[in-house]
Amino acid sequence: MTAAVSIRAPAPAVTERSPFVRLGAVGKTFANGVEALRGVDLDIRRGEFLSLLGPSGCGKSTILRLLAGLTGPSRGSIDWISTNHDLGFVFQEPTLTPWANVFDNVWLPLRLAGVSKASARPRVEEMLAKVGLAGFERAYPRQLSGGMKMRVSIARALVTRPAVLLMDEPFAALDEITRMRLNDDLVALKCELDATVVFVTHSVFESVYLSDRIVVMAPRPGRVVAEVHVPHPSPRDEEFRLGAGYAGICRETSLALHNAMGVVAVSGGIATA
Ligand code: ADP
Repeated sequence: MTAAVSIRAPAPAVTERSPFVRLGAVGKTFANGVEALRGVDLDIRRGEFLSLLGPSGCGKSTILRLLAGLTGPSRGSIDWISTNHDLGFVFQEPTLTPWANVFDNVWLPLRLAGVSKASARPRVEEMLAKVGLAGFERAYPRQLSGGMKMRVSIARALVTRPAVLLMDEPFAALDEITRMRLNDDLVALKCELDATVVFVTHSVFESVYLSDRIVVMAPRPGRVVAEVHVPHPSPRDEEFRLGAGYAGICRETSLALHNAMGVVAVSGGIATA
């Protein structure tokens, strides 16, 4: 098994924060015998934006599902150090209720917690404004673009003000321009709400733009093989995206990902190791 390596010096702002949840030697083997995760040691720190980056099948979604308590580990432990670990979950598909309007979709988690429509109104409207959808309360999902539907999904996940936001490739199905806008807005929102975010992606560029720290994973069995720190303050903007620092970290992350996939870069191309 490849040992985890630190590619970059840790960013003090993130490493100084206390762990929020700790995965210790976590393994997961499904009933069909697939070993999805082996020996995952991972501290997720309060307020950090952590990306899980890796090829399909390396266990990224399984880590999110373990954190959400949707499945249990086969080996090892998951210890929540924080007493408040309310979760919000955003999936790749917005999963909106088609016959409910935007307001009712965002109200749903509050309604399930027993909050009436009238009491929920200020919170729902505030969250819709934060994701750039003020005035769209009465629209139905079919009237919205893909990016707008994802904004509704994010507002729904955040309306209960969860301490942790789990996001499973939320922007993968969106076009590049929409994706960049949502990346910008997510960074700003995360700073404003001071939430902890665990974000699954297979995009190097997206992970570097968004994250304080990127955990690179390899498949068969799923495991952590590298960590990349992004020591640039948030919120970030176009200047960061166009700068040499961003390009350099993207290159490092790309190399770590290629190594994780058992592939090494050679001049003029890529060769299998
Ligand atoms: P990723 O999110 O990185 O694509 P997943 O966590 O979805 O990876 O899956 C890791 C491995 O576990 C894959 O080989 C996948 O097929 C397998 N897997 C995921 N969920 C299940 C399940 N419920 N039953 C059996 N195998 C599963």
